Amino acid sequence: MAKLYFRYGAMGSSKTANALMVHYNYLERGSNAVLLKPKLENRDGEKIIKSRIGLESECDYVEDFIADIGTDWVAAKKYDAVIVDECQFLSSEQVDWLSDLVDYAEIPVICYGLRTDFQSKFFPGSMRLMEIANKIEEIKTVCWCERKAEINARIHDGKIVRDGEQVMMGGNESYIAICRKHFKLGMLSVEDTDKV
Ligand SMILES: [Zn+2]
Repeated sequence: MAKLYFRYGAMGSSKTANALMVHYNYLERGSNAVLLKPKLENRDGEKIIKSRIGLESECDYVEDFIADIGTDWVAAKKYDAVIVDECQFLSSEQVDWLSDLVDYAEIPVICYGLRTDFQSKFFPGSMRLMEIANKIEEIKTVCWCERKAEINARIHDGKIVRDGEQVMMGGNESYIAICRKHFKLGMLSVEDTDKV
């Protein structure tokens, strides 16, 4: 039976590299796997998924894929697997559609994304995936203190930003994955221990 997977992790946990490798493995076996991302996520330009370690691949947009298939589950069976990156940006309805694809076309759908935003609140896509995915798997990464990093802190001028929009495109902000304790304390590196 096909399953809906949600593989989540903080920033820098190599989710995208993982998605690209899984896609590549399908293709290598001669399988027809499709690689998707939401249109909203456009920091890598047009229809390209790029990982920090340099792997990249062409992809399609989730929105176009859904519009193309609609509810033609028989036609959808030409795909062997669907791999979606940046799933935090999916709407709840898009996640529901992906679950229909799993259930009615019997295609595995593997979703990669962040669990929570810079305020450690769910993204809509991640929340729906947490609710309905068959398999939820964490891709781990570590804080500078070597504890597990669970929070995606938004950084501006070397400080943690605590307020603002959930999604900020093209701003000067950057993100760093840190543990919950160091998020609370506002400590971004070992040098910050001097300030406490
Ligand atoms: Zn820490």
